[in-house]
Amino acid sequence: FNHNYWIGYQDANRKYAKAVLDEIKDDELIWIHDYHLALVPSVLRSKNRAYNIIFFLHIPFPNYETFRALPWHKEILEGLLGSDLVGFQTKNDVKNFLEACQHLLGLDVDFQNSSLKIGERTVGASHFPISIDYKRFVNISRSSEARKTLNRIKKATGNVKLIISVERLDYTKGISERLLAIERFFEKYPEYRKRVIFIQISVPSRTKIKEYVNFKNETDELIGRINGKFAEELWSPVIYIYKALSQAKLSAYYVAADICLVTPLRDGMNLIAKEYAACKDGNDGVLVLSEFAGCADEFKDHSVMVNPYDTESVADSIYYALKLNKGEKRKKMAALQSIVKNNDVYKWCNDFLIHFQKIKKGL
Ligand code: UDP
Repeated sequence: FNHNYWIGYQDANRKYAKAVLDEIKDDELIWIHDYHLALVPSVLRSKNRAYNIIFFLHIPFPNYETFRALPWHKEILEGLLGSDLVGFQTKNDVKNFLEACQHLLGLDVDFQNSSLKIGERTVGASHFPISIDYKRFVNISRSSEARKTLNRIKKATGNVKLIISVERLDYTKGISERLLAIERFFEKYPEYRKRVIFIQISVPSRTKIKEYVNFKNETDELIGRINGKFAEELWSPVIYIYKALSQAKLSAYYVAADICLVTPLRDGMNLIAKEYAACKDGNDGVLVLSEFAGCADEFKDHSVMVNPYDTESVADSIYYALKLNKGEKRKKMAALQSIVKNNDVYKWCNDFLIHFQKIKKGL
């Protein structure tokens, strides 16, 4: 923990709060997003007790025993508690947050109503799993840019089965662990060599931070090693795309992929899993999903669930997913689609605002 970072963090939060104060009319709603801005709610609250403030945390909230290691855990909690409603991705995040308020701030938490009192003020905490614009993704996947890309992918890969993973190049996404599982898969199931290609799409992320530069080098080396080990004639097991694709192009990869491997070590929600399901409209495909992704709560019954640290079992799960028959794949995919369709980002927004209104009315 670096105290200078904490000073910078406070400073940035105060600047954001000032920018809001310059704009805000008293009864307007202020909706603050994510961990960068955890102090903004309390700064604003200190200026006006009547402000309408809601906050959504996009990343997981840790267990309080872990969270207390942060030297500024009290300040972060008190910052968030400036809100009227704090939203999280999963039920477990809410539980962790409320327990942190109870154990680390000594507050009296009403677990039944998922709320607590700060003087006269009620602060609610609830889970709102974020989602995607389902219809938009279905339409994008049918656009001419997507169709052209899909044709090119099909032409280049022929009858080979495609597995994809997509994410920012970030160590929380489990990329190295996944590559080791891919290596193990081709080792253990040699009959799939030349019949399966794994496409890793990595979006450059935080490229000026040393840890990320090292991680990029590690990933490059690992992919080079796997390709060197298994490549035969014109086939290579891993295709590595290191750039951001447009969502139309990306949707073509989703449509083309027989399997989508979403195996983060920790992830607030993971929208890739939801976008994959949306783009598979009317088609089959299998989602192999980490139990540590936020969307596991919604998807666990209709995906092949894995522990991303368990190389052997991820390799076996890929094999299992490839072996599923068409009927099983259709059934799983149809169930995932209906979850995303019925819980799109508009419902997420609506649920959040309705909950906030209830808290305001004291319901
Ligand atoms: N994405 C994109 N182009 C790419 C790769 C990803 O536009 O080449 C988008 C993708 O469509 C998704 C987002 O990046 O909406 C990733 O969101 P997610 O919640 O999965 O991960 P985060 O980066 O927020 O941790």
